[in-house]
Amino acid sequence: MSNEPSVFSRIIAREIPADVVFESDAVVAFRDIAPQAPVHLLVVPKTERYRDVVELAAGDPALLAEIVATAKRLADEHTGGEFRLVFNTGASAGQTVFHVHAHLLGGGLPEGTLGH
Ligand code: AMP
Repeated sequence: MSNEPSVFSRIIAREIPADVVFESDAVVAFRDIAPQAPVHLLVVPKTERYRDVVELAAGDPALLAEIVATAKRLADEHTGGEFRLVFNTGASAGQTVFHVHAHLLGGGLPEGTLGH
């Protein structure tokens, strides 16, 4: 595994730019650079200790709960409170950044689009 900081750690350190919409002691949220919905935010713990949501749930369930609560708060602000939360887990499921993150998608998602 690489010891280089993840792209998200570099955003958190402000080494690369991002459109940050929320930040707390433990969590940051910013707009996805390649949006796949009218609203597409990433909710990311500041620690990159956990590769995916399975590791996070086992290692720090309170931090996972904070990510979900943050997503709800951001959805209230950006999507009228309704949203889809996606944690890609593994390369064959589309995960490309192995620093756990939630995709918060919303703002008008048609039914039957999950998995497309
Ligand atoms: P995943 O494929 O689930 O690992 O999600 C990684 C997401 O990070 C993708 O949706 C990318 O578009 C997004 N992404 C990668 N680099 C950046 C960046 N510099 N700023 C914002 N989003 C990014």
